[in-house]
Amino acid sequence: MRAMVVRAWGQPFVEEQRPDPNPGYGEAVMKVRAAGAGLTLVNMRTGMYGGSAPRVMGHELGGDIVAVGEGITNVKVGDRCGVYFYLNCGHCRWCRNGRETLCEKHGGYVGVHCDGGYADLVCLPAGNFIPIPKGLDYEGAAMACDAVNTNWHCMRERARINPHDDVLLIGAAGGVGIHGVQVAKLFGARVIAADISEEKLALCKTWGADEVINTRAVADVATEVKRLTDGKGADAAVDYVGKPATFQAAIDSLAVSGRAVVIGGAVGTVAVTPINLILTEKTVTGSRHSTRAELIETMEVMARGLIKPVVGKRVHFTAVEELFQDLAAERLLARGALTYD
Ligand SMILES: [Zn+2]
Repeated sequence: MRAMVVRAWGQPFVEEQRPDPNPGYGEAVMKVRAAGAGLTLVNMRTGMYGGSAPRVMGHELGGDIVAVGEGITNVKVGDRCGVYFYLNCGHCRWCRNGRETLCEKHGGYVGVHCDGGYADLVCLPAGNFIPIPKGLDYEGAAMACDAVNTNWHCMRERARINPHDDVLLIGAAGGVGIHGVQVAKLFGARVIAADISEEKLALCKTWGADEVINTRAVADVATEVKRLTDGKGADAAVDYVGKPATFQAAIDSLAVSGRAVVIGGAVGTVAVTPINLILTEKTVTGSRHSTRAELIETMEVMARGLIKPVVGKRVHFTAVEELFQDLAAERLLARGALTYD
């Protein structure tokens, strides 16, 4: 099979011919039909998330199961499937109480700690394959596996969005953010989208943003959010960038009882004022990917057409390096997609 390999962390992809994988006990093999690529993977390729190279990356995947090992009951040959990103134990208190991304024996990530799907075939623990419902295509299923399900978990469990909320999304035109605009709208919120260019903000408007803020054109994001909410502030603020300046803006934009949630993970610190947290009962927190159950829900919602995959650029998987260069340079609108024909 063809595989796009990172031979050492920090290096570009190289195409290699590798033997087709055979599934061992508890494993299954999927023929990949579509994939996504986002900024998380650009960061993971530096080696900052651990794992070892040489490595075939790629975790946002849709395809067909073509072989199963012994002991498999959850999927069979011919099933259309997406892929769950995390390698969790399935038995610890967090796996058992619906917060499996906090797994005590977390084994890492598909495409970082084991080989992923920027290849014709991918072999994984069978439990990481999640059947795709009727009405959702391979590319939509691939996007569900990170770009969309991350928002499903964030908006419902962490930001706790209600229809009466004003919600600020920082970095809203990126691969995860643009789907966050749709999820927040689906939950009934009024969405204020913030990003760094008019082109990106126009995309946010297309996908339902009610208000937009060009962060390079205003002196202070929090002041602009207060202006757009008659002085109240945002009931929730989700930061897809995660730089100190952007998460500080999220915190400073909050209304009384507001929730600031970080999804993007850059290095740095922010300031919070304890007395202000007491007097206003604000929440400053993070949101980590989604559970398998939330991925299943996400795919069902997408199959009904309520959330649509937004692809900014599509290339063949053997040209994945081009997408990574676009992502690193912040040139890409929405999600990058890979084809396999
Ligand atoms: Zn666990």
